[in-house]
Amino acid sequence: MLIGVHCSISGGLVNAPLEAQSLSCSTYQIFTRSSRSWKTPELKSEQVELFKRKNKELGFSNLVTHLPYLPNFANPDKEIYSNSQHNLIEEAKRCDILEVSNLVVHIGSHKGLGSKKGILTVQSHLEKFIQSEFKVNICLEISAGSKNSVGSTIEELQQIRDGLSETSQIKICLDTAHAFASGYDFRNKEAVDTFTDEFESLIGFKNLAVIHVNDSKVDVGGKVDRHEHLGKGYIGMQGLQNLLRHKKIVDLPIPRILETPRDTKEADKINLKILSEIVNGPWQI
Ligand SMILES: [Zn+2]
Ligand SMILES: [Zn+2]
Repeated sequence: MLIGVHCSISGGLVNAPLEAQSLSCSTYQIFTRSSRSWKTPELKSEQVELFKRKNKELGFSNLVTHLPYLPNFANPDKEIYSNSQHNLIEEAKRCDILEVSNLVVHIGSHKGLGSKKGILTVQSHLEKFIQSEFKVNICLEISAGSKNSVGSTIEELQQIRDGLSETSQIKICLDTAHAFASGYDFRNKEAVDTFTDEFESLIGFKNLAVIHVNDSKVDVGGKVDRHEHLGKGYIGMQGLQNLLRHKKIVDLPIPRILETPRDTKEADKINLKILSEIVNGPWQI
């Protein structure tokens, strides 16, 4: 079972695998640069080699990077479009250099222009990625459904993928807090069955590449993205277990990454332990 947290690269890329190891993770997620800047500092070859060597040595594979938060792939505004495009291509290059398999992206907001226009804009970005022939997968993250956001439902994610010339590297990242805030009530087993059936028929589980496991500070349908410690939010242990131990999800060989708050030194350790119990047992309803 691939379980991990978001690790820090401050002090050098190699610190991420070391941090993951110290937490007994089997995989991890990083930002390869500042999450709140457009700047793309160059990767130093020494650091890259050290990073790759450490990952091999410690047996880490199926790694995840998260794109910075600034790009918006659903807004056709010229400047935003070109900055976002540049950012995506630069990050995809970095992922290939670092041998990272999955690049998670927030899709963005159509800023009132309507979801149709937003989806077309997202598709145009993805076509450029597809034509560039990278190795990394793009993982479109389901959004919490805040005003004007694109991609908060399975149908919308499907609409984005369906209009593309090639979808083999266009995957999905399921964030449990986002999906719950968007309206999928994982506390209800029947709702989880409906969710997984719909995902299977519209997108297919072979296209689910990453799960972000977070509880939610807002109730179902709250349409806001607020992560909470596992078991302390509205989804709760039962809801998380309904989803993560669902027969269509439990055996998927994909990373399950925590993005829970880090308000105490022990927070990651505690959430990892809970996650491991949720997916492997012994935690039982
Ligand atoms: Zn997430
Ligand atoms: Zn989030």
